[in-house]
Amino acid sequence: MLRTNNCGELRMAHIGAQATLCGWVQTIRDKGGIIWIDLRDRYGVTQLILEEGKTDEKSIQIARQLGREFVVKATGNIAERSAKNDKMPTGDIEIRVSSLQILNTSEVPPFKIEDETDGGDEIRMKYRYLDLRRNIVRKNLELRHKMARFTRNYLDNLDFIEVETPVLIKSTPEGARDFVVPSRMNEGQFYALPQSPQTFKQLLMVAGFDKYYQIVKCFRDEDLRADRQPEFTQIDCEMSFIEQEDILNTFEGLTKHLFKQIKNLDLADFPRMTYAEAMRTYGNDKPDTRFEMKFVELKSNEIVLRTSEKHISNLVGDTFPVFNDAEMVVGICAKNAANYTRKQLDELTEFVKKPQIGAKGLVYVRYNEDGTLKSSVDKFFSEDVLKNWAEKMNAQKGDLMLILSGEANKVRKQLSELRLEMGSQLGLRDKNTFSTLWVIDFPLLDWDEESKRFHAMHHPFTSPKPEDLELLQTNPALVRANAYDLVINGVEVGGGSIRIFDKDLQAKMFALLGFSKEDAESQFGFLMNAFKYGAPPHGGIAFGFDRLCSLFGGADSIRDFIAFPKNNAGRDVMIDSPSVISDEQLKELSILVKKN
Ligand code: ASP
Repeated sequence: MLRTNNCGELRMAHIGAQATLCGWVQTIRDKGGIIWIDLRDRYGVTQLILEEGKTDEKSIQIARQLGREFVVKATGNIAERSAKNDKMPTGDIEIRVSSLQILNTSEVPPFKIEDETDGGDEIRMKYRYLDLRRNIVRKNLELRHKMARFTRNYLDNLDFIEVETPVLIKSTPEGARDFVVPSRMNEGQFYALPQSPQTFKQLLMVAGFDKYYQIVKCFRDEDLRADRQPEFTQIDCEMSFIEQEDILNTFEGLTKHLFKQIKNLDLADFPRMTYAEAMRTYGNDKPDTRFEMKFVELKSNEIVLRTSEKHISNLVGDTFPVFNDAEMVVGICAKNAANYTRKQLDELTEFVKKPQIGAKGLVYVRYNEDGTLKSSVDKFFSEDVLKNWAEKMNAQKGDLMLILSGEANKVRKQLSELRLEMGSQLGLRDKNTFSTLWVIDFPLLDWDEESKRFHAMHHPFTSPKPEDLELLQTNPALVRANAYDLVINGVEVGGGSIRIFDKDLQAKMFALLGFSKEDAESQFGFLMNAFKYGAPPHGGIAFGFDRLCSLFGGADSIRDFIAFPKNNAGRDVMIDSPSVISDEQLKELSILVKKN
């Protein structure tokens, strides 16, 4: 070892001993014959001190050649500091250097290697290895490591076995586009990178592995957002001889274990809500339940999912043309927000009218402290009508009601965005509060207007609820699945389902999804074949590991929790990838390129 200690561990108890430290020069101050150097490594920062007259001349000379981020080795006595720094764990001591050696020089780094850096996103990504030297970034990766370790511990204790599945596979239809890799040895043919190990983990169940997990890279060629990366990591799990209840319990257990071990939080049992209820009360299948602000329908003409019962109400009469034409009029009550100014309300109106949200307008009703009600539609509604709304929405004096109208599905999405915005504005989305929710009973299928056919809402291997099986023939849109998502603070951290394990049902499912017999055979013959040989009942779940880490770390972007992430355009700006390859490589891969 080149060092006896690291830069984060020396304390008062070590005073008098000698130590050798190695690390990077964080700062140098040279004043009146005394030189202080802050030496940094992964574990912390320790102050070195050199004094003209006391330290040997050679070391002083070397110290005066140092620049930021030089790599040095320093030996000296551990001494008590005269001016202590209670902001640093090592702030009581310093090293009185007796020997200093430069292990490597450094160019001036393009940004400050400090928590508050002057480097913008782009430059930090280009020099990610320097960015990773910063405390906050390193801490994120330490958290990630801990999360993986506690996950493995928990699952190991339950007899799960980690099995690696291949990365060069063939397309799995999981809804996203595949990344493909040309095969040199099989001209004109391609591998696909897995969107998830879904079919492999099911095959492992057929193989009798019983409880599988894998912390695994997955690849999806999708448009990117702050919480998406083309390659990301899942905690992927599958179990045999279980029911939905067992999966929910096992992985609620894992989640609680992580919160306990990492944040020392004891989470209460996770509430459950059906997809239909989540959509009705929050307009969202991953509601942020840190705050209430539930939807209240003032008018609805909708047929409630699956029950075929009509959900009809009308508290808005027929005096306001906009509402007359609407399939749904629905609102939220923002507590203590009646004091919103005209300007703030205009801004909210602008917010819902943004193209990404797409509402035509916003109706608001202030329930003033003096008991009067004032709305943006006073022309059309008497105060008595507004009172009715207030009652229905459980609004009190001081509250603000915000109401949108339109086509049910659209208006729910719009109001869901407004609800989240209001939650943020009113400070109801505290990063240190964690609200968990299982969303269950997802629809099995999703009708796609464009392709005029059903798509699997989760994936084609998800099992319909046995009690809904009959509807598969008569009204597929109403069939519910044994599928579930784990939602924390409005973030979908995991999702899974109980699988089909009967080959005939699986074949029926492929047919429903528009696969011809031949296509189903060529794409999934291996799975249906395997199902001929005693497939056990099974099901599973996958957690988005990067997202889970960012949630624990209190950050919005998953990028901060990935060592070498890609940017919004899917590029790694550090290694400059993707990149063109040589004509020779292209030829070898039998890929033709157009030449200008
Ligand atoms: N493979 C699924 C996914 O990636 C998870 C699962 O069904 O277990 O979302």
